Amino acid sequence: MTVRHEREEMGALMAAGPEEQRRLLQAWGLPAAALLMLESPCRGHCVFCANAGVRQTPLSPTSRALDFARQVRGGLLCVGGNEPATHPAFLEALCLARADRVQVMTSGMDLMDCAESWAASGVHEVAVPIYSRRASVHQSVTGMDHGRLVAGLERARDAGIQVHLHSLALQENLNDLHDLSKWSQALFGRRLVVAPTRAKDDVWDYATQAPALDDVRDELVRADVELIGWPDCVLPDHPRGGAEVIRIYFHGQARVQGRLCVQCSRHASCAGVVEGELRHRGESGLTRM
Ligand code: SF4
Repeated sequence: MTVRHEREEMGALMAAGPEEQRRLLQAWGLPAAALLMLESPCRGHCVFCANAGVRQTPLSPTSRALDFARQVRGGLLCVGGNEPATHPAFLEALCLARADRVQVMTSGMDLMDCAESWAASGVHEVAVPIYSRRASVHQSVTGMDHGRLVAGLERARDAGIQVHLHSLALQENLNDLHDLSKWSQALFGRRLVVAPTRAKDDVWDYATQAPALDDVRDELVRADVELIGWPDCVLPDHPRGGAEVIRIYFHGQARVQGRLCVQCSRHASCAGVVEGELRHRGESGLTRM
């Protein structure tokens, strides 16, 4: 069975220029932004990533990236990709773009060495994944060095870059997320944003590695976190949040609704769950509102 992990409309967004992207995102109820995707090899080996172990991700064309950057006039520029910092056009594109605000989604592994040069090139904010304050957990999930990440985040903050942290809920880290969010608030002034993982069954075992929706409710009900990507019936009183680049990223992920959703008051507005949730666990975790 072939499973689509991204919404089809994201293809049109990626192919569009900055003005058209702003128009599309606003039409989808998202913040107006230009979205520059720099495909390039990632630093990590995250257990749930379809690209894990693929060290030679083809580079997206440098000339296209620079042409796109030249068209950015004002507003918010979001930069993403596998790891934009490893793309040869990264800093040049930032310098060419005349954005009012630049937000970069990154593993954060380059911040320890490059935070000051990123700030000097116009980066205002970074959105970075982190899975635990326990180094062993973060490293087993991502294959990346926790100490280097934390040092880089602090360096970014000290260089004047705002830090947004996000995490995926896994069996391995579910009871670490409240503590991680308190730490994020103390160091960077904002809560951790928590999202669900997708079911990439050829890569990892969703049924045993992703926590059930009821376990997420039980564990996070008293956690001071923000949520993104969950259906409306999971902890509806918790704030939904995330930096703009994260909101766009999670909007792009495919979601499905169950049969019982048809009679839910949120049917028209709720994105539902990742398809693996229904395939592996059925509708037991959904609650009509
Ligand atoms: S029951 Fe379905 S439509 Fe209603 S909030 Fe839950 S996932 Fe969304």
